[in-house]
Amino acid sequence: MIHGTLYIVSAPSGAGKTSLVRELVKQTARLIVSVSHTTRTPRPGEQTGRDYHFITVSEFRAMLDDNTFLEHAQVFDNYYGTSKLWVDQQLDNGQDVILEIDWQGARQVRRLYPESVSIFIVPPSQAALAQRLRSRAQDSENVIIKRLQAAVAEMQHFDEYDYLVINEIFAEALYALQAIVSSQRLRVKRQTQAQAGLLQQLLQP
Ligand code: GDP
Ligand code: ADP
Ligand code: 5GP
Repeated sequence: MIHGTLYIVSAPSGAGKTSLVRELVKQTARLIVSVSHTTRTPRPGEQTGRDYHFITVSEFRAMLDDNTFLEHAQVFDNYYGTSKLWVDQQLDNGQDVILEIDWQGARQVRRLYPESVSIFIVPPSQAALAQRLRSRAQDSENVIIKRLQAAVAEMQHFDEYDYLVINEIFAEALYALQAIVSSQRLRVKRQTQAQAGLLQQLLQP
C-alpha cells in the first residue's frame, strides 16, 4: 500500500484557506481534510464533526493528557488540535491528508513528519483580508480586529513553508494548489510504488 502524503496548509484567518481546501478536496481523489478539535464556539452553520469537533476546555485538556494530538496550539484565545490516530490511519490507507493549521502547529508537524509538504496562502493585500473577514460576516467586530492584528504575525512565518500561494483570483489559487498536489504525486519516489506493475513490465529485458 502506498503511504499518503501529509499536506499542511496555513494562512491568516480570512485568506480563503477553508474555501480553497474544500474545493480542492472536492475535485481530487484520495485527498481528505483532517477535522480539528477546537474549544472555539461554532459559527452559524458550522457542524461538529464536519467543520470541527467542538469540545470544551476540560475535554481538550483530557485529550492532551491522553496524547491524542499530533499537534496542538492556542490560536486567538482558543485551543486547536489534530487527532494523531485519525491522520495516521488515513496515511496508512494511502489517502493524502490536509491539515489546516496555524504556523505553530506546522512547526510541530514538520518535525514529526519531515516528508510533509507545507503550503502558505496569503491574500492579495491587507485591505482584501479585512474585506473578506467582514464579508464572511461570521465573527464579531472585536474578533475580526483581533484576527487582523494577528494576521501580520502569522504571515511573518511564510518562509518556513515549501510553497507560497496568493489567493487573489480564487480559480487561480485553486489551480496552484492542484498543481502542487499533482507534482507531489508524480515524484519518482511515489510513482515507483504507484506504478510498480507498469515499471516492472517496461523494464523487462
Ligand atoms: P478561520 O481560519 O478564519 O476559518 O478561523 P478558525 O477559528 O476556524 O481557525 C483559526 C486558526 O486556527 C486557523 O487559521 C488555523 O490556522 C488554526 N487551526 C485550526 N485548526 C487547527 C489545529 O488543529 N491545529 C492548529 N495548530 N491550528 C489550527
Ligand atoms: P479562512 O479559512 O482562511 O479563514 P475562508 O475560506 O473562510 O478563509 O474565506 C474567507 C472569506 O473570503 C469567505 O467569505 C470566502 O468566500 C472569501 N474568499 C475566499 N477566496 C476569495 C477570493 N479569491 N476572492 C474573494 N473572496 C474570497
Ligand atoms: P464558504 O464561504 O462557505 O467557505 O464557500 C462556499 C463555496 O464557495 C466554497 O465551496 C468555495 O469553493 C466557493 N467560494 C468561496 N469564495 C469564492 C470566490 O471568491 N470565488 C469563487 N469562484 N468561489 C468561491
